[in-house]
Amino acid sequence: MKRLRTFLLLGFTALTGIALFVSRSDATPGTVRIIAPGVWFREGDMDLGHCNNVIIEMKDYLIVIDANFPSGARAAMADAKRISSKPVKYVFDTHHHGDHVYGNPLWTEAGATTIAFKQVGEEMKRLEPARWLETAKTRPDVAELKRDAPEPPKQDIDEAQFALNDGSRKVEFRHLGWAHTRGDGFVYLPKEQVLCTGDAVVNGPYNFTGDANIGNWPTVLRAAEKLKVKFVLPGHGVPGGRELIAGQGQFMEELHKAVKAGVDAGKKVEDLQASVKLPDSVSAWVSEASLRGQIKDAFDEITQGKPRGDLGR
Ligand SMILES: [Zn+2]
Repeated sequence: MKRLRTFLLLGFTALTGIALFVSRSDATPGTVRIIAPGVWFREGDMDLGHCNNVIIEMKDYLIVIDANFPSGARAAMADAKRISSKPVKYVFDTHHHGDHVYGNPLWTEAGATTIAFKQVGEEMKRLEPARWLETAKTRPDVAELKRDAPEPPKQDIDEAQFALNDGSRKVEFRHLGWAHTRGDGFVYLPKEQVLCTGDAVVNGPYNFTGDANIGNWPTVLRAAEKLKVKFVLPGHGVPGGRELIAGQGQFMEELHKAVKAGVDAGKKVEDLQASVKLPDSVSAWVSEASLRGQIKDAFDEITQGKPRGDLGR
């Protein structure tokens, strides 16, 4: 009986692990699911380029994680209204990419304050409005706003850590270093053991490395892993457990290692793009199309001795 029990328990643990790692086909974009009381996850519709959103209920107001693209912002706003009558007071931009910040003006118009780590605004100063103007050519929701530039976060967080605590809940904003982008922000709910990661952790082959520090990415995730976390809410893809952080870190580590070995052996980037195969253990993060670009980014970072995000286009 003891043996059987152990077996059943192990079986259950294994199944839970699998269940958390839902495939894309099981995902349901645009739906809102509850993660903990007062904490909702809204899965973005990837076909529309949307990121995920998280809605956190405080005593008198709501916090929304990521502004999304304008059309995603409207959808998330409608869901927030459906979920709660409390107003959205803060929208936290996890990083400077358009699918996370271009909806900012819609939120501020609705009365919210957009906030982010100060490097987010700095990156926008450096890289915008070029990307906004480029995006407006293909995205009606961006063009429709008739702006010459995106709206930067209204409030900067200057320290590496900041918390909102109204007695009902504590919400920590943490900058753990440069991974996906220079300004990456995590949102951590210590009591609920929820970690919102932005694109520093994604669940699936959705990694964009053009503004990244690939070599430092695993270090940032090791810092995230030190937190007591049960639920990981990624910037793209469905939620998972803490194994998502480890898997994403391992993917970046394997990518960097494979490209570094090729560089040390004097190989060209085209050779590496044709030959690098990452271990099966990280296959959830690999797609052939995205891997080619990621190999190029890692190659440039290693050969030029600077984070990819510092190298320009
Ligand atoms: Zn991003």
